[in-house]
Amino acid sequence: MSIKNNLNSIIKTLPPQVTLVAVSKTKPITDLQQAYDAGHRVFGENKIQEMTQKWEVLPKDIQWHMIGHVQRNKVKYMAEFVSLIHGVDSLKLLKEIDKQAKKYNKTIDCLLQMHIAEEETKFGLDENELHEIMNSQELQELKNIRIIGLMGMATFTEDKNQLHKEFHYLKSLFETMKTSLSEVTVLSMGMSGDYEIAMEEVSTMVRIGSSIFGARNTH
Ligand SMILES: *Cc1c(COP(=O)(O)O)cnc(C)c1O
Repeated sequence: MSIKNNLNSIIKTLPPQVTLVAVSKTKPITDLQQAYDAGHRVFGENKIQEMTQKWEVLPKDIQWHMIGHVQRNKVKYMAEFVSLIHGVDSLKLLKEIDKQAKKYNKTIDCLLQMHIAEEETKFGLDENELHEIMNSQELQELKNIRIIGLMGMATFTEDKNQLHKEFHYLKSLFETMKTSLSEVTVLSMGMSGDYEIAMEEVSTMVRIGSSIFGARNTH
C-alpha cells in the first residue's frame, strides 16, 4: 500500500465535515511530501523541533498541528506557523502561547486536552480543571489565543465498550462547552486503532498516523 492509497481509503470512510490530521511524527520529509502530493494539507507532529524542521522545507500551505505535550519554553519556536495546538493542559501554557502569538500579531487556536483514559500516564485535565480554566478571569485577558474545542486520547485497549464510554464522556463535555461558546467547534478524538469508534461518538477531527504512514520504529 502507498501513502496515497492509505490516505484515500481512510478519507472515504470519513464524513466530509471531519478533519483528518495526518500524524507524521518520526516520518521522513519524503513521506510527508507524498501525502502532500496526494492533496493532503493537515499534518500533526508531537515534537516542536521536528515540526519546525519539516515546516522549513515543506510547502507553506500546510497546516501544522501540534498534537504532543508542549513544553512552555519551546512555544516560541512554533508560534509563527502553528495552526492548532491540541495538547494544552494549563493556564500557564495558554499564557505563554498568548505571549508568543502576540509577537506575530496573530491568534493561535488551541484545544484543551482532557484526561479520559484509564492509564495514569496520559496527559490531560479533569473536569474540575477544565472548568477552572474556562471560568478564570485570566483567560479573558488572553486576546491572542482562542480555545476552539477539546482533545482526548482513549485507553489503549481493544475493549469497544470502554472506548465508547471514554469518547462519549469527552463528547458530552464538548457539547456542554459548545452551548455557551460559539467559537467551540472542534472535538479531536480518534487515532488509527480507535477512530471508527470515535466517529460513532461524533468526533470532528481524527489524528491518524500509522494507518497512513505505516508503523513507527521510534516514538
Ligand atoms: C501518535 C499520535 C497519534 C497517532 O497515532 P496512530 O496510532 O499512529 O494513529 C494521535 N494522537 C496523538 C496525540 C499521538 O501522539
